[in-house]
Amino acid sequence: MPKGIWIFVEQAAGKIRKISLELLSQGRKIADQTGEPLVAVIAGEGIAPLAQEAAAYGVDQVYLLDSPQLAQYTTGVYTSALTKLIREKEPQAFLLGYTAVGKDLAPRLAQRLGVGLASDVIDIEVDSEKFLICKRPVYTGSAYSFVEIVTRPVLATVRAKSFPVAESTPSRQAEVIERTVTVDPEDLKVLVKDVALLVTSRPALTEADFVVSGGRGMKAQENFAILEGLADVMGGAVGASRAAVDSGWIDNQFQVGQTGSIVAPTLYVACGISGAIQHLAGMGASKFIVAINKDPEAPIFSVADYGIVGDLFEVVPLLTEEFKKLVS
Ligand code: FAD
Repeated sequence: MPKGIWIFVEQAAGKIRKISLELLSQGRKIADQTGEPLVAVIAGEGIAPLAQEAAAYGVDQVYLLDSPQLAQYTTGVYTSALTKLIREKEPQAFLLGYTAVGKDLAPRLAQRLGVGLASDVIDIEVDSEKFLICKRPVYTGSAYSFVEIVTRPVLATVRAKSFPVAESTPSRQAEVIERTVTVDPEDLKVLVKDVALLVTSRPALTEADFVVSGGRGMKAQENFAILEGLADVMGGAVGASRAAVDSGWIDNQFQVGQTGSIVAPTLYVACGISGAIQHLAGMGASKFIVAINKDPEAPIFSVADYGIVGDLFEVVPLLTEEFKKLVS
């Protein structure tokens, strides 16, 4: 009896996050190839309207876990609620985004369920014997490992932008199943009292099509304003190297790299960043890379599609002016 390819759907501000749309789109293909139904799990409070949005991306069934206890993500409550559902329904695969939530939740689920986990997956291949083979970068992206998880469900976190978002079919319907959430008292270890949202008009770093990042060459916190100017012209996000973060010039949520966010925009502009391997691990999959560095020997130029040898304080304002002309 087919038990399904399940996708954990994340939402932000009442909309399904792009990474989850990517997973639903790829999940549909995997479901078709394996003969399994595609199932979405949506957890939160007041999330019922999202069921139709998920259905439009080809979902057969939606499990709605709608409860005030799930209004804010906390490890214990989500682990408890999802473990129960997975144990009961025994899906074949359970895929999450390689996001802050996915990175936290998936290992807990793996431990509770006693199953293997493939993390930071960038491709999933259907194999007639081995079921799903997960491709993931290792050694900061200089090699790949191909992982077969022999336990069920195949649990995997998938990197943003690994798969395109399919066309939606708004008229498509799915069976919606509402679940009552019961959380074991021992899992209620954390109570979120308040959430302070960062108000920004810029897209999330991992979802942006255009990212402009600054490194130690930015020299001071206030100089990031010139990168923000360029990002805003392009409707993009601002990122940073760890050196800039460690210098206290920008919050660590903006760090790109091995120990920061992994991005894959259409255009990545690296300003005053040398191109250490740990930084490249976070942005090497970008479609086009532009590097601005005054050192012609900087390693970033070896991965750049376009390199500008020059002073970023002269080049970035000029680029901003040129981009303004393009978009006006
Ligand atoms: P630098 O290497 O100091 O380079 C600054 C560059 O700016 C130079 O190339 C210089 O020529 C250029 N420059 C200076 N002034 C100007 C100017 N006016 N105009 C143009 N160019 C100019 N790093 C990350 O970024 N992300 C990570 O996630 C990360 N994780 C790490 C994990 C581990 C375990 C370790 C050990 C390190 C990690 N690092 C990470 C650190 C990494 O090794 C580098 O130290 C870091 O990326 C360097 O940052 P940078 O390129 O900004 O600084």
